[in-house]
Amino acid sequence: MLSTQAHASLLQIPTHLPPFLRRHRPPKQNVVVVMGATGTGKSKLAVDLAAGRHHPAEIINSDKMQVYEGLDIVTNKITPEECLGIPHHLIGIADSDSDFTAADFAATSSLAVESISEKGKLPIIAGGSNSFIEALIDGRNHEFRSRYDVCFLWVDVAMPVLHRAVSLRVDRMVAAGMVEEVRQKFDLNSSYSRGIRQAIGVPEFDSFFRSEFYNSDRKTRAKLLESAINETKVNTCKLACKQLRKIHRLRNVNGWKIHRLDATKVFEKTGSEADEAWRELVAEPGSAIVARFIHG
Ligand code: ATP
Repeated sequence: MLSTQAHASLLQIPTHLPPFLRRHRPPKQNVVVVMGATGTGKSKLAVDLAAGRHHPAEIINSDKMQVYEGLDIVTNKITPEECLGIPHHLIGIADSDSDFTAADFAATSSLAVESISEKGKLPIIAGGSNSFIEALIDGRNHEFRSRYDVCFLWVDVAMPVLHRAVSLRVDRMVAAGMVEEVRQKFDLNSSYSRGIRQAIGVPEFDSFFRSEFYNSDRKTRAKLLESAINETKVNTCKLACKQLRKIHRLRNVNGWKIHRLDATKVFEKTGSEADEAWRELVAEPGSAIVARFIHG
């Protein structure tokens, strides 16, 4: 027969608590959170971790624009091929004209975390909206912290390098049909203050689509299209800087123990060299941190 203390330690129950509190507290489950500015490779790392052999896992999106349905190119939603068969939750679940708040995220994602844990799998939360992650982890009387142990990973890329990469990503989005996709959402009378219309890459094209609607001359339209693309690039870079500042705040002010993985060198290479650098600098160290977190 185990002593009360041995029993409590097996269940990870602090023995200094009075007996009535000790009795009902189940052991904590594990959760991994992958953070980082836009374009750093968070989604890729989440899939790499889930597809690795360490632990079966499912991924929960924490990007505040990807929760809405539609605009898959502009919001850079993960494609079915990129998912590698790993189940992804909270992508395209909200009506595009609704307002999906941080409180909505906290409620919905905690249900997803619970159901993934109940299946004996590891929930991996990945996405750039730090206010969403903060609402889940530090909101509601720290209830989440009392039920889950959290391992934070941060994919970091030096800002000048990331700015070049996100500019190129906007060019790729344009080539993939971004302008047509946004044109479908254009409405002369709607504002850009709710739902998916707030996404970077939507309000920026307003003047261009108005010029089409009012039949402006070709030269004016070409100029407005060029500035819309440039503005999308500039605003994406500003978003990346803002996200980085928030990660620093969560680390330095909230005291989150965040493991930083420097992916800068990956972005300075191309092709198989970039793949190799990703494996060596991000995927393998990330996977080792998660293995230590799970197995001690
Ligand atoms: P905050 O709530 O303070 O705005 P946050 O950390 O919750 O910050 P971010 O992810 O930084 O949220 O998003 C802020 C804004 O950036 C969004 O309102 C949207 O305009 C834009 N944005 C975020 N993610 C995307 C995306 N995937 N595609 C396009 N725009 C995005």
